[in-house]
Amino acid sequence: MTCREFSDIIDSYLSGELLVETNHSVIRHLEQCRDCREILAVRRAIRERLSSAVRNTEESIIDSSFAARLRSDLRSKAVGPRFGPFAWQLFLTGAACVIMITLGSVLLLSDYGPMLTGVSVNLPEPAMTNPVTPDTMTKIVPAVLEEAAEDAIDDHFKCALFHDLPERPISLEAASITVDPVNEGFDKVVSEAIVAHLGKSAKVIAAHHCLINGRHFAHVVLLVNEKLVSILLTKVGDVGQQNDAALCTKKNEVAAACFGSNGYGIFVVSETEGESVNVAKWIGPAIRSHVSKRRSNV
Ligand SMILES: [Zn+2]
Ligand SMILES: [Zn+2]
Repeated sequence: MTCREFSDIIDSYLSGELLVETNHSVIRHLEQCRDCREILAVRRAIRERLSSAVRNTEESIIDSSFAARLRSDLRSKAVGPRFGPFAWQLFLTGAACVIMITLGSVLLLSDYGPMLTGVSVNLPEPAMTNPVTPDTMTKIVPAVLEEAAEDAIDDHFKCALFHDLPERPISLEAASITVDPVNEGFDKVVSEAIVAHLGKSAKVIAAHHCLINGRHFAHVVLLVNEKLVSILLTKVGDVGQQNDAALCTKKNEVAAACFGSNGYGIFVVSETEGESVNVAKWIGPAIRSHVSKRRSNV
């Protein structure tokens, strides 16, 4: 089995859908291929994160309305000892309902059946805010940035995760001569800004210039708490007023935060929206100054 063949069936492998013989060739390949082992670990982490995110969201939605009702029932009916027999009965019936509803919603994602062991019946406060509509979604992002963000996410998967680009990446130094001077030192600026905020929990594992869907990116790949984060810079043309870092788009279980600077778009792609936006905010000032310096040298 080749690395390419493995990357085509990685999802079926993780879902346990492969024939026994194919499974054996996968295992044989993984035993001797470190790259694919790393890709597999990242892919598995993404899937686990997704399933727990879905489960938490479903639970919170069910719990907050249900918990409010349950609490008022308990308050009005359970007079006497704090946890009298009747209150307990009511509570256990309620807890069973939460488990069953949650079970149903998790089973819909047939892939994630084994995750059921983590089902919790903790009842959050009724005042809890809705987790589905973060305020970052309401910010207006220029269309040129949104378009480029789609390519940035493609690049995060095809370049950083699967090393599956039609053209090999080149060094930032080479790209600064042949493509755009803004490439030079981009990795240094990113890594200094990141280390200042995250210290040892983040490290740069790759930095290069790559081409995807006809778009040139200066690309730095970070490992932050064992997860891959891509930081990408590309020319987008006029972005109007320089905008603050905000969530740009979400696709395939990852979120891209972005901001514009002097005709360039900068994108941070990670598994979670909050992390993407935070990293984009941290690197913002250093990258803005880098872009304006490198451009003024042209
Ligand atoms: Zn391989
Ligand atoms: Zn790349």
